[in-house]
Amino acid sequence: QTVSVRQVLSGDVAAGTKVTVQGWVRTRRDSKAGFSFIHLNDGSCFANLQLVASKDLPNYEEGILKLTSGASLSCIGEVVESKGRGQSLEIQAESIEVLGLVEDPDTYPIQPKQHSFEFLRTVAHLRPRTNTFGAVTRVRHAAARAVHEFFDQHGYYWVNTPIITASDAEGAGEMFRVSTLDLANLPRNDKGEIDFHQDFFGRETFLTVSGQLNVEAFCLAMSKVYTFGPTFRAENSNTTRHLAEFWMVEPEVAFADLEDLAALAENFLKFVFARVLERCGEDMAFFAERIEPEAINRLEALVNSDFVQMDYAEAVRILQASGKKFEYAPEWGVDLQTEHERFLTEQHCKAPVVVKNYPTEIKAFYMRLNDGGETVAAMDVLAPGIGEIIGGSQREERLDVLSRRMSEHGLDPSTYQWFLDLRRYGTVPHAGFGLGFERLLNYITGLGNIRDVIPYPRTPGSAPF
Ligand code: ATP
Ligand code: MG
Ligand code: MG
Ligand code: MG
Repeated sequence: QTVSVRQVLSGDVAAGTKVTVQGWVRTRRDSKAGFSFIHLNDGSCFANLQLVASKDLPNYEEGILKLTSGASLSCIGEVVESKGRGQSLEIQAESIEVLGLVEDPDTYPIQPKQHSFEFLRTVAHLRPRTNTFGAVTRVRHAAARAVHEFFDQHGYYWVNTPIITASDAEGAGEMFRVSTLDLANLPRNDKGEIDFHQDFFGRETFLTVSGQLNVEAFCLAMSKVYTFGPTFRAENSNTTRHLAEFWMVEPEVAFADLEDLAALAENFLKFVFARVLERCGEDMAFFAERIEPEAINRLEALVNSDFVQMDYAEAVRILQASGKKFEYAPEWGVDLQTEHERFLTEQHCKAPVVVKNYPTEIKAFYMRLNDGGETVAAMDVLAPGIGEIIGGSQREERLDVLSRRMSEHGLDPSTYQWFLDLRRYGTVPHAGFGLGFERLLNYITGLGNIRDVIPYPRTPGSAPF
């Protein structure tokens, strides 16, 4: 019977059972009494399983004594109650097959000690072997599963929106071009411009910055949908909160307004927090011990309290009245900076804050104009320690208003005819948001850098794997 480390340590396998366990060595210690104690990890849980190997095993000298941190093995043995302190169950090894030794143990990058995050980013292919990245990987999985679970329970369909697209949903000009053209020999038209008609799709295309526009089409037929996939932004800023490739969760709901959306965002976040706390207790305890002492308490408190809601105008008034010296003076009409967002959540409200009704000028073309036109029905959810984790809005569902806004933004009408069709044929009020999945994970784990909650970070000047 092959079992995982988690199955043994959680007591799923009765003492006395003969099992096979497989994994990677974290440490080996040899006692004078003729035993070796091997701590084995297979990724199934945070804790290591202790294997006890006697010197009487036939390959003790030339096999077991060569096992070092990172080596792989397969062990057959009996589950026994441990005599050692702090261990519940262990394996009395009957045989240990060495599968792969470590070529040069002295230069193996993942030594059994605490490495800096900077260093680990340079060995992204090996960092899953550390306690921290094992825990991140399990928490990321649990959070992703909770995302699907929440929407499934509430009657949403998961829609996979395209990665390659012609439209810039955010209008921020941060798109990566997708092209098969020969850079050294670009085709030109009469005016000397690059002729994208000769490109693969017969036009200019890009990697998607958001699945929103595409998922809106499904919303206006299926009522409640969400997309959850990779998105790409050529952010030229090198911050701890931006990646060039990140994952977004984007629900879109028909017959809904901004108030409905704010309630959805709050319920959704609380659900995900509660699930992660429930399913990743050991990993969260590790983050609390190693990264942020308040991690667990904070999430628990959040699950049981209300988010603070305020209008953008009120947020600006609070910031101006705070007497605090900000690098950028808060002013109506200017987007909130991270320092402002952190003041609101960490010092003023001491809770996540939902800011609503932003100035029209600073938001995207598709957001619904409020009466008077000065503001749009947009909302951002701001989290303590992070700033913006969700950006959302009620969408402009009126054909005439949307057409006008698009031409004000200088968008090419031919690219967005299909989007206007949605307003032409049976339009309804609808709303949706985008959650940065990695920002959520930073918030949950307390890890301070977005590069450390995604398996392979892509940032300006760096995509080595
Ligand atoms: P920011 O102001 O932080 O740059 P944004 O307003 O440009 O974010 P939106 O277009 O509103 O971002 O995208 C929705 C969500 O996607 C954001 O709230 C954030 O959580 C996440 N997000 C945006 N850009 C990035 C990025 N480069 N890396 C990781 N997550 C991101
Ligand atoms: Mg941005
Ligand atoms: Mg923003
Ligand atoms: Mg935003």
